[in-house]
Amino acid sequence: MDADKQRFLEEFGEFYGYKDAPKNIDEIRATEFKRLNEVVYLDHAGATLYSESQLESVFKDFNSTLYGNPHSQSNCSLKTTDTVGEARREVLNYFNASPREYSVIFTSGATAALKLVGETFPWSCQSKFMYTMENHNSVLGMREYALAKGATAVAVDIQETADHGEFINSKSEIDIFQHPEQRRVEKGSSREDSSGEVYNLFAFPSECNFSGLRFNLDLVKFIKEDSHKLLEASPTLRGSWMVLIDAAKGCATDPPDLSKYKADFVAISFYKIFGYPTGLGALIVRNEAAKLLKKTYFSGGTVAASIADIDFVKRREGIEEFFEDGTLSYLSIASILHGFRILSTLTTSAVNRHTTSLATYVRKALSAMRHENRNHVCALYGTDKVPFERMGPTISFNLKRPDGSWFGYREVEKLASLSRIQLRTGCFCNPGACAKNLGLSHSDLLTNLEAGHVCWDDHDLLNGKPTGAVRVSFGYMSTFEDAKKFLSFIDHSFVLHPQTQAPSTNLFEARPIFPVVEGNGRVDERYFLKSISIYPIKSCMGFSVDSWPLTSTGLLHDREWLLKSPSGEILTQKKVPDMCYITTFIDLNMGIMFVNSPRCKDKLQIELRSDLFLPRKDEVDIRTQRFEVLGYHNEVDIWFSNAIGRPCTLVRSLRPQTYGCASGKLCGDYVTKMNFANEGQFLLISEESVSNLNNRLRSSPQKGLQGQRIQIDAKRFRPNLIVSGGEPYAEDQWRSLRIGNKDFTSMGGCNRCQMINLSFQAGKVQRSSEPLSTLATYRRVKGKILFGILLRYEDSSTRNKSDTWLHAGEEIFVSRD
Ligand SMILES: *Cc1c(COP(=O)(O)O)cnc(C)c1O
Repeated sequence: MDADKQRFLEEFGEFYGYKDAPKNIDEIRATEFKRLNEVVYLDHAGATLYSESQLESVFKDFNSTLYGNPHSQSNCSLKTTDTVGEARREVLNYFNASPREYSVIFTSGATAALKLVGETFPWSCQSKFMYTMENHNSVLGMREYALAKGATAVAVDIQETADHGEFINSKSEIDIFQHPEQRRVEKGSSREDSSGEVYNLFAFPSECNFSGLRFNLDLVKFIKEDSHKLLEASPTLRGSWMVLIDAAKGCATDPPDLSKYKADFVAISFYKIFGYPTGLGALIVRNEAAKLLKKTYFSGGTVAASIADIDFVKRREGIEEFFEDGTLSYLSIASILHGFRILSTLTTSAVNRHTTSLATYVRKALSAMRHENRNHVCALYGTDKVPFERMGPTISFNLKRPDGSWFGYREVEKLASLSRIQLRTGCFCNPGACAKNLGLSHSDLLTNLEAGHVCWDDHDLLNGKPTGAVRVSFGYMSTFEDAKKFLSFIDHSFVLHPQTQAPSTNLFEARPIFPVVEGNGRVDERYFLKSISIYPIKSCMGFSVDSWPLTSTGLLHDREWLLKSPSGEILTQKKVPDMCYITTFIDLNMGIMFVNSPRCKDKLQIELRSDLFLPRKDEVDIRTQRFEVLGYHNEVDIWFSNAIGRPCTLVRSLRPQTYGCASGKLCGDYVTKMNFANEGQFLLISEESVSNLNNRLRSSPQKGLQGQRIQIDAKRFRPNLIVSGGEPYAEDQWRSLRIGNKDFTSMGGCNRCQMINLSFQAGKVQRSSEPLSTLATYRRVKGKILFGILLRYEDSSTRNKSDTWLHAGEEIFVSRD
């Protein structure tokens, strides 16, 4: 056993694993979750995983039982009714709730349960909806019902006083601080006239899904019985209080004990507890509270009798029968019995101890991590006032460089996925906890919203501050090995150790300086244009030529076409790897693009000029910009649909400058700024940089198909221009260059994504973690992984306009920064 595990077991051995269960944790992982393979799954707060034997027993049950609609009158419907009743008892049992006191209303999820309370709560204009800042959007959304009925909504912060690190669970230790009140109706209007009972609602999560903070459940009693104390500041307040616990996250490992904490409403989702089924949740409701809810809708399932042509309805009487509209999802409900069975062999308390031991271990390790200058690496959220042991198995944090500047959470996410670690980043649908923990103001939040969000953008930091966090969360089947792999990943990728070698120190710079160039700076270096490649259809194979014309928007016909799905989505190799089987070639003399696919008998020929006369107007959205494009005839679309094995259409960007607008009106309708190239017009790759990368890959532990070291051809990066000469990465420093008589400006490094990890070998598309993993170790700058540079062609500064051709073999003259 390794030393780390030994140390872990010394500290947490009595809590970790399931010693009294039929299988211990290692056996559970080895037999029940084989599909995890090498993946380190740390998103149990998003959804936990179902086990193999759980699903096997579900299918065995379904295949051996005749389940009918519970509303029918037959034996098989009685079986369904019995099973649903058993499921209700299991749910109540899980929360230690007595059926005399509580009922289970099945819903489509925790969100639907919360919505049901919002919709039916007896709001009046004197009611108050009070909720903790830490709440899921699905709870915040309830305020729309409250505000619409004239009620007041107010967010609060809960503060508890600690004594020697222990919490005294006495009411006097709880303080509540109110944020400004929200109200839709004018103050004072219609406030006095209501004389009936007034009901208020207080909502909080048992465990915050942002930080893992567990709320003191004594809040339930405190609110219901001592509310006058905490609300002295609100003289207008009257009526009685009901309490809602959003247990969607908390119930997976620590379900509230409803015999002790008598909340009125508890919302849950079952996939958060045992992974399957999705689309099923419940509202556990105190019977007394259920009587106060006001329901408008009636339906099959909730009606005893109704008359079609007059206003008459008699509703069914029981709580479930009153609220559960339509036919229950009875097969899903039957399957939760198998989930509960798995958990009961482990016991809930052992699941809680097990997951808490992992989270405590990881929190301790993260808070102890330091850079070589002794500065902390990690800022943990939600842990400032409570001991780690009182936090749930959900950890959120952000990472800092040695100088105190932040690593963006997208960078962490991107690198984690290269290490096959599944975690979550952002605000996790919990804007209050996010703002509170990150110290974001209302205006920060709005700026963030306006800044929008696109793939690979840098909005994970705004004015140097994080706009979200990284979250890892544990489930009952998580292991020490998961925790350890995660911690080593953080240590290797984000901690600057004294022995860290020079080439990677740039990872720790806040400002975008380029990676260290090895042996750069010789002035007598000569560079040559080695090859020119054109990729007419975005994400399909291109072709190489010795000479090719330039236009003001780039290489003629480069990325001028793309494939889009019927829903308008732009198809790329990342989503549709089969696009790499499509090859293209353009014969400029003939004016034809030839397209080939092993899946299509005939070669497709597309006349470059003819489509001007058969345009079908179409549109595509590239990032946030809308482009008008031309579509083709059906035969063309059928050809491409066969080639990639899914329906798609070919569209072409209009480039008036290429064909001139001589034909007048036709082009005038279209606004086309550029081709479909991603960020710039040309991608330039240096042969020397590629061979430097290959040297590094040769010494990396990752192996290819036949066990040989992976080697990368320059073409893998889909460059337009390949240059030779000079030192590796010299291109990072180029500001501008001249090839022949044409000028180009460098627009900086090209940010690489998983697409370069796709290769085409032995007739199949292969995925690996290389070369991106290796590039990530030494080419990371400000959350990006750079390789190659993007160029813009300076059309106007090129002197001899009559010669617009670029030729392989030409010398390249560069000027540096
Ligand atoms: C997941 C979650 C929800 C929403 O649950 P759904 O299953 O999407 O309805 C609400 N609150 C918390 C705390 C959650 O973790």
